[in-house]
Amino acid sequence: MELNSCSITIINLFLLLNFSVLCLSQDFDFFYFVQQWPGSYCDTKQHCCYPKTGKTAAEFGIHGLWPNYNDGGYPSNCDPDSRFDKSEISDLIRTMEKEWPTLSCPSNDGIKFWTHEWIKHGTCSESELDQRQYFETAIALKRKANLLHALTNAGIKPNDEYYKLEEIRDAINEAIGYTPGIECNVDSLGNSQLYQVYLCVDTSGSDFIECPLLPRARCGSRIQFPKF
Ligand code: 5GP
Ligand code: 5GP
Repeated sequence: MELNSCSITIINLFLLLNFSVLCLSQDFDFFYFVQQWPGSYCDTKQHCCYPKTGKTAAEFGIHGLWPNYNDGGYPSNCDPDSRFDKSEISDLIRTMEKEWPTLSCPSNDGIKFWTHEWIKHGTCSESELDQRQYFETAIALKRKANLLHALTNAGIKPNDEYYKLEEIRDAINEAIGYTPGIECNVDSLGNSQLYQVYLCVDTSGSDFIECPLLPRARCGSRIQFPKF
């Protein structure tokens, strides 16, 4: 049977359509939504730099929204053609400065941090969320999970005191309904402290879920909650 150019075009279109469906199908199992305590980022040997807009509030800040696999692996840098396009989120910048501030040095405006997070992690959930939706989703999740409120309600305050790891976990579980992953780091004196809180989110980015797998804690049984 001879194929004319029209049938070849149709076959090519069909193949292209199947290929795009394959590429766009959801290709991760859940998100880690990771928030950092600024006091614990800043009091380490590396120090920190406040953003160009000045010292941020004593509040948890977003670190990232990271697509993950159930076995603990994760995809990264999934779309070499994608660029961070500031114009797509220009109306969100003020909110991002507040909810997703950068503390790395030298002092900067956050664009580098957000670009890094989008390119490394966000491009791996493009089947679910485009760039604008990715940042909007993270902001919405941050507001839904008011970690500092959950902790202070349970008497756990950023006052340089030590708290039981279990107590911190329970307070967040009580407020949000799911067990968080807690990650510690050490301050310049070597004290173990509350650094990051991981919550798990379904692939659409809308609901918290029980974590299929909790990240490694690297915490002592009692950890410091530093001032900021
Ligand atoms: P670290 O080695 O400091 O724990 O992590 C360095 C970076 O690797 C993180 O900021 C994040 O970009 C990535 N990363 C570390 N652990 C995980 C993980 O469990 N899931 C995902 N998706 N990314 C991770
Ligand atoms: P990840 O660990 O997500 O792969 O990468 C974090 C990157 O973002 C690092 O290169 C780090 O220097 C930069 N970065 C900029 N601001 C911040 C911040 O406030 N917290 C953290 N954890 N990393 C930041």
